[in-house]
This record gives sequence, C-alpha cells and structure tokens, in this order.
Amino acid sequence: MSKKSIRQVDLKGKRVFMRVDFNVPLQDGRITDPARIVASLPSINALIKQGAKLILASHLGKPKEAGDPSFSLKPVAQKLSQLLGKEVQFIATPDVVDESVRHAVSKMDEGDVILLENTRFLPGETKNDPETSELFASLADAFVNDAFGTAHRAHASTVGVPTLLPIALSGYLIEKELESFEKVLDNPKRPFVAILGGVKVSDKIKVIENLLPKVDKLLIGGAMAYTFFKAQGRKVGKSLVEDEQLDFARRMMELAKERGVELLLPVDTAGSAVFEDVPPVIVGQEDFPDDFNGMDIGPKTIEIFTDALDGAGSVVWNGPMGVFEMENYAKGTRAIAQKLATLEGDTIVGGGDSAAAIHQLGLEDKMTHVSTGGGASLELLEGKELPGIAILQDMS
Ligand code: AMP
Repeated sequence: MSKKSIRQVDLKGKRVFMRVDFNVPLQDGRITDPARIVASLPSINALIKQGAKLILASHLGKPKEAGDPSFSLKPVAQKLSQLLGKEVQFIATPDVVDESVRHAVSKMDEGDVILLENTRFLPGETKNDPETSELFASLADAFVNDAFGTAHRAHASTVGVPTLLPIALSGYLIEKELESFEKVLDNPKRPFVAILGGVKVSDKIKVIENLLPKVDKLLIGGAMAYTFFKAQGRKVGKSLVEDEQLDFARRMMELAKERGVELLLPVDTAGSAVFEDVPPVIVGQEDFPDDFNGMDIGPKTIEIFTDALDGAGSVVWNGPMGVFEMENYAKGTRAIAQKLATLEGDTIVGGGDSAAAIHQLGLEDKMTHVSTGGGASLELLEGKELPGIAILQDMS
C-alpha cells in the first residue's frame, strides 16, 4: 500500500517533527562520511521551501549515558548547517526536549530548522515509551519519517510520535525506497532474478521463502551456497555451513524445481586452506579439498551468474558473493555489481554489504535503487510491513 508523502500535503506554517537518519560515522568528533545527511537534504529543502517549521530528530549510535558528548549530534548540526547554507539551531541538552527547546520551537519562523539532541539519550526512545512519544509529539503538528534505516524498529520517534499526531507522512527517501521495492516485488518486469549471498541461510530464510515463488531465477552465492551444497551431499571442506538449515535448503531446491524456478549455485569456488586475504586457489565443486575454505565464487560461476542476468527485467540483490572485505575475495561481488550496472532492467540493491560494494565501485548512479537500510530492506524482501511505515497515512 502506497503511503502519502510530503509531495501530496502542504505543510506551510506547521511545526513538523521529521525523523531522519543522521546515524553517521564519527571519528574524534568529526564526521567521516556525511552520506546520510546528504541523502536527507531533498526532503529537508522541500519542507523549508514549503514554509514548514522543521524539527529534526535522529539517533546516533547506542549511547549508554544521556548526554555522552561522543554521541552528541552537535557535529551533525554544524555539517547540516553548512550543507543547507542556513542556520540549524541545536540545543545540546541531555534531556533532548526541555524548556529551552520548547522556547526555541515557539519562536520558530516558517522555514526555520531545529535539530534535537540524540533521541537515544532518552531511555524511552527504543522502548517506544508513551511518555517519550508524548514529549516529542508535543512539539509538533505533523510527523514526517525520512529515516528508512530505522523504519523496521518500533521506537518512540518512529512509531510512537505518528500515532499521536494527525498528519503522518513519508519523506522522499522512504517514498523512493517503497516505490522501488514495491515495483519489483508486486509487479516485476520479467525475467525477475534474485541474487542472494552473505553468510547465513538462517538470516535469509524468510527472504528466500518470499522471493522463490515470485522470481524466474535465484542465484545463490556467498557462504550460504555451502549449506545448499552440503544439502545435496557434496563436499564443502572447512567452509561455513549451517547444519540446522540443511532440510530448509533441500525443501527450497525441491520447491524451485516444482515451480520451474532456475536455482543456480556456484560451480567453482575461490578459497584457501587459511581464512586470510591470501591469493585464492580455484577448485571445482566436485573436487573440494577437506582443508579448504570457500571464500568467493570462482571464475566459471562468475560467467554463469553474469550470463544468467543478461536481459533481466528486474533484479534484486542482497548479500555479497564472497568475503569481499578481503581484496583477494572481492572479485565475485564486484563482478555482480559491474554486471548490474550494464543492465537495462530495474536493479534494486539491498542495504548493507551489497550497497557498500556498489558505493566502493562508484556505481550507485547505474542502479535503479540502492537501499539506505540493511535490516529494513531485508524485512521488505521478507514481505513484512515495517512498523515505521505501516503507521504512516495511506494514499487515499
Ligand atoms: P550478511 O550480513 O549475511 O549479508 O553477510 C555478509 C558477510 O558475508 C560479509 O561480511 C562477507 O565477508 C561474508 N561472506 C560472504 N561469503 C562468505 C564466505 N564464502 N565465507 C565466509 N564469509 C562470507
């Protein structure tokens, strides 16, 4: 179900509590990558232009103590102010909302921006505590959520506040995330190919169950593939395997056959006897040595997987094909990213590691959509409704 966004509602003159994701990486109080702040600029600028009074809220890390300066959003306020080219008022109070904040909000003009201190300074935030929600909601007339990365968590600032305010909309970031995922999941251009990788089958059970009936092809790489191999009675050496998922893997392979889904597993593996960033040895799946760690898909598999993507109408990708953090085992993941960049069909990349690979290669502009949320995108692929999105107003 599509959600109403700031595109459809005029918020001029309204005090808007906007949940953003400013959970940026910091080193010695300096922001090392402002991408998340930059990503929220379109929504912020649109609301400034509409003449809203904008109250921004975000968490940053997991502070144990209210007011811990290493978790303060102060550097974010400075960076945001610089990026917007206008003053962003920041009140550094460990209480997040106190009299000075209320006073500042009461003095706001249309187009003004206030950034609140780290929402997680309040213990009630992650508990979705009604009092904390009330505290935030009392500042505003309307709620906007532009923090996709936390939309799968029912916290006070993502779910509590919109239950208390008469207007609850999505910002542009969430709007684009939803449109992109809905398009491929509900009405994909065919052939529809899903590529899954990463470590654990158990983390992706629901994704596999949800996608298998929808796709034409399912390509499985990463450590996950070895659980499928073992389920077929093949050798996997020292590679990571989840023995408790062997039955699940067998069932999925049968289901794929029944439904005419082409399920492709690697035919060769790059790896080593030691789990280290050393030059790889390539082995075929039939002669897998006992003391061997499978750490990436091999060259033949790269060819088979990239050929399988030729002419795809829609592609969803979640999870690296190998230990891509190691230079010697990043080839498979990079090859998939580079292939996706050449496709004309819709290409949707889940957040987390696959998105990181796309960013490393500077290919984000070549994708239809690179998700900004790891956990949140995984839950969309599982077919779940995210609490921070379910609570927003439906498109009428
Ligand atoms: P996930 O969070 O489940 O998507 O897994 C991502 C992680 O999977 C990355 O940190 C990769 O290093 C890891 N990974 C991918 N392939 C392998 C493999 N063959 N062996 C061990 N780890 C792997």
